[in-house]
Amino acid sequence: MSSFTVTSGNTLRCKGWRQEALLRMLENVLAVGENPSELVVYAAMGKAARDKASHSAIVSTLQTMDEDQTLVIQSGKPIGLFRTHKDAPLVVMANCNMLGQWAKAENFYEYEKQNLICWGGLTAGAWQYIGSQGVIQGTYEILSRIAEKHFHNSLKGKFFLTAGLGGMGGAQPLAGVMAHASTLVVEVNQASIDKRKAIGFLEHQAKDLDEALALIKTSIESGKPTSVAVLGNAADVFPEILARGIVPDVVTDQTAAHDLVYGYVPSGFTLEEVQQLRRTDIPRLMSLSRQSIVKHVEAMLGFQDKGAVVFDNGNLIRSHAHDGGVTRAFDIPVFTEAYLRPLFCRAIGPFRWVSLVNNPEDILKIDELLLRRFGDNPIIKNWIALAGKHVPFEGLPAVLPGSGTVTGLNWPVR
Ligand code: NAD
Repeated sequence: MSSFTVTSGNTLRCKGWRQEALLRMLENVLAVGENPSELVVYAAMGKAARDKASHSAIVSTLQTMDEDQTLVIQSGKPIGLFRTHKDAPLVVMANCNMLGQWAKAENFYEYEKQNLICWGGLTAGAWQYIGSQGVIQGTYEILSRIAEKHFHNSLKGKFFLTAGLGGMGGAQPLAGVMAHASTLVVEVNQASIDKRKAIGFLEHQAKDLDEALALIKTSIESGKPTSVAVLGNAADVFPEILARGIVPDVVTDQTAAHDLVYGYVPSGFTLEEVQQLRRTDIPRLMSLSRQSIVKHVEAMLGFQDKGAVVFDNGNLIRSHAHDGGVTRAFDIPVFTEAYLRPLFCRAIGPFRWVSLVNNPEDILKIDELLLRRFGDNPIIKNWIALAGKHVPFEGLPAVLPGSGTVTGLNWPVR
């Protein structure tokens, strides 16, 4: 298996730059991923390749294939190499496509156990993940949209409540502070809190909910943004905050709720007990997770009823709550529909550039170019300034300049 460090410089290990680029992107998603030794990039099970043998075969094929060949990858496993032509894609892949009656969580775990499929997330299996920097921008963008739509363009002095500090969710405290919010994140795993604190994405860990709420109150009153994490289960802490009569301004959740077995942790269970259930009783664990999600989403609806801006952050929490009997679960809007679709309707969408030779100077030049071309666009201007200050490069230097970028421009090819 190739190493998970990032390759630098101009030396090719493949027969051309296109193959080398894909190899470097594959290495990069693992270098910045959550659990590279298991090929996991993020979201509990989002993988770069189906298994270690598939990964090795993909790496060696990329190193030996010609530019007029196409490698076909089916759910993380390479299944064929075909002679095509120089303008054809080098790799075509599809991840975990399950249709109709088979598209059920139970089937997913069964097929995954049999090593027939793997889940590629949105960018993990496609080797496009650039670390937290991408999701920081996405979260910042959504919070900026919320500020624009509901709070006269600013989240200063506003209470943003969320949960989950994993591969994606770990961006929330930093993005919250960048958007000037007073941000509280509930996280059940101390290791996830430690990781985000160590890289500077999170400012404080409170010893309990009382201290967390006190820190948030001080931040709201002073208008100085902060981020606070509290160790606990969101299915317990969200209802507790609601019961105390405290209503945050903005509420979401980014626990790995899409995955009832390997992602979401049900309330009342330690991480060790959950590990044990993963090995011994998956149906029970799924049912326990669903019951917790019901409590969790009922609290989110409670906040919404009291006037909070509540949204689903793309983790299927509403669907599982609905399956568990919360008939109003879909009263909570999903972020794509509420905040991103209006941008896509205006042909505005996110782009990302990566310096394949691992040179941060490349990104600075792209930043300059973006500012020259879009200097009158406040979203791009703010993001580039904020990212330069707050967002460290992870893995290969990359830039995701924000959904202020207009599609269809003729960018220089590097
Ligand atoms: P992850 O598995 O890396 O992290 C999830 C975190 O949630 C872990 O730290 C875990 O300990 C914590 N957690 C689990 N159950 C909890 C509970 N009940 N209470 C408190 N904390 C709990 O996952 P991730 O990569 O951070 O992704 C999170 C979710 O976001 C996934 O469902 C993923 O599909 C979704 N997602 C959204 C977007 C987006 O653009 N909005 C993009 C990618 C992924």
